[in-house]
Amino acid sequence: MKRKRFQFEESIEVLVGSDEVKFTVPEDLICDRSRFFKSACSEAWNANKQPIKLTDADPQTFSDYLQCVYQSTYSEHDKDTALPSLFQLYILADQLGDLVSANQIMDEMITCSDRISQIPGDECIDMAMESIPSNSPLRRLTRDYYVFEADAEKLEGCSEEFVLFVAQSFFHLKKNVDKDRTVGEVFSRCVSDAGRCDYHQHDAGCPPCVTPDADSDGEKSDQS
Ligand SMILES: [Zn+2]
Repeated sequence: MKRKRFQFEESIEVLVGSDEVKFTVPEDLICDRSRFFKSACSEAWNANKQPIKLTDADPQTFSDYLQCVYQSTYSEHDKDTALPSLFQLYILADQLGDLVSANQIMDEMITCSDRISQIPGDECIDMAMESIPSNSPLRRLTRDYYVFEADAEKLEGCSEEFVLFVAQSFFHLKKNVDKDRTVGEVFSRCVSDAGRCDYHQHDAGCPPCVTPDADSDGEKSDQS
């Protein structure tokens, strides 16, 4: 596929958070990636190029987002804040309608979890369960860490809603055991064993990373 050339000539001002921290952002790349910015910068909505306000966003998270969009890298965080920061970053990219970044951040979350040997904790669970829609990849990812990788004690103290969500997945997977697979076959996998696009979002503007044939080795995760 031919790569798009960006001119970086026009920039827009973005005011982020309740203190309206000002960012100046090259326009064409961010509008290409984010449906929100594409609309917000359009002639119809913003002919006078007024600053765009993201009052609910966190300035540090927006800064991390720009780093992801313009440099395809992620800010360094210590072990305890690495996953919560990536969860916040994912939610922002998703809200901005930037599926390319959201999918990249998703991959980074799974890699990061393996690297630091931690699964998403309470803070991440709360963010995931508040994310919409109810079948969002962030919710499924968080649930699957507790289905496939957590000890039972880890569920103690989790919200009733989350425990129920995990339990529903167990019952769904149990059906697979009943059919033709052993308990070991169904449960002895990690989140990072999932197929390439299992936790991705794709649409016409963000086509699947691989064709179905090329991904035939990837085990489909439970999408329910
Ligand atoms: Zn994908």
